[in-house]
Amino acid sequence: MKILIKNATVLTMDEEMHLYAPGYVLTRDGRIEELGEEKEVLPEADETIDAGGGILLPGFINTHCHVPMMPFRSLGDDCPDRLRRFLFPLENEAMTKELVALSARYGICEMLLAGVTTFTDMYYFEDEVAKACEELGIRGVLGETVIGQRTCDSEEPYGGLLLAEEFIKAWKGHELVTPIIAPHATNTNSAEMLKKAYETALKYDTLCTLHASEMDYELKYFKDEYGQTPIEFLNTLGVLGDHLLAAHCIHLTERDISLLSESKATVSHCIGSNTKAGKGVAPVKDLLAARIPVGLGTDGASSGNTLDLFTQMRLFASFHKTENRDRSLFPAKEIVKLATTGGAKTLHMETALGSLEPGKKADMVLVETDSVNMFPCYDPYSALVYSANASNVELVMVGGKVLVRGKRLVYADLEKIRKEMEDGIGSFRKAAESYI
Ligand SMILES: [Zn+2]
Repeated sequence: MKILIKNATVLTMDEEMHLYAPGYVLTRDGRIEELGEEKEVLPEADETIDAGGGILLPGFINTHCHVPMMPFRSLGDDCPDRLRRFLFPLENEAMTKELVALSARYGICEMLLAGVTTFTDMYYFEDEVAKACEELGIRGVLGETVIGQRTCDSEEPYGGLLLAEEFIKAWKGHELVTPIIAPHATNTNSAEMLKKAYETALKYDTLCTLHASEMDYELKYFKDEYGQTPIEFLNTLGVLGDHLLAAHCIHLTERDISLLSESKATVSHCIGSNTKAGKGVAPVKDLLAARIPVGLGTDGASSGNTLDLFTQMRLFASFHKTENRDRSLFPAKEIVKLATTGGAKTLHMETALGSLEPGKKADMVLVETDSVNMFPCYDPYSALVYSANASNVELVMVGGKVLVRGKRLVYADLEKIRKEMEDGIGSFRKAAESYI
């Protein structure tokens, strides 16, 4: 099957940042076959799509999410220490396998409609998230949470290590789902569990992701208990390495940054979630200067409220320019890189994803420039970061399959999915209301 997309401003996001305007991309059997400046005779295809002058770029990569947390959106947003006083207890009381399945489907629809083609996830009943990826066609890099407390899907004293390993075994080698392991955070697991989780990642040659250097009390705990930062602690344990994707990394010392760099760990930066909670702005300028791969993440809908990377790109620009008092820092082009190639590098998937190049997977998003907020458009990167929002996403393709066309899901009935979620959220909503 060959699909030709023509009449587009093609942002390849390749090493040389080639841009073709007008340009075309030809896909064949799920991969990019060829691309370039538009020419008189374009290659033959089974289907030709006229992009109408829109911006075509690699699909966005969301490097940190908890997609089944959809029912928490807009609940207790301004409550201090929401995680321990609010989220953990409510999760144990009211999160079920059925609700995870419904929420994952709903959240994946939201991501697809926003041009996200790959996302990293950490939650419970992750098997249901994997099935939802398979059903809806998005790529998922998914990890079953390992945590040192009772959870909604595991009462095991070892906090789900076995479950997590079974999940990896069940989904390894899947075209869309990449199973990983996800110990919750530096301070919510014992040292032994963190080590075992990382060893599992090494055993299956997959990623290990966790929350790190995010909370004030996390820093205080490691300082008081070990005289170390969380990153130093991970390093001492042997958990800091090239299989680690550390989410947040807000509070870092110079030594932490050196350790992250030397170990070849990668970082997911969740600017929306971090600043909404007033936690701080991660030192991304220094991380990139130390050649640490950084991608953008939305976090769950409870923490960041949206699952789209347009919001993250815009917030990234505002906060980092303000933090560094420098308007020229992080030009829009660099921010689009973080949302695409940067994300692919954090997941070690850069040979297959993150840029439009022959041989790579045909994961693409077309952003229209006809809407009122998109005119005029002098610079497509600027337009993406500063003007666009998720409602400008016209078409989305994953592995050569068009999943969103004309701003609508092709294979999923969003109204039905929403209705099912509304029907299934009843007892959660009741429990949630008792917490407010
Ligand atoms: Zn998170």
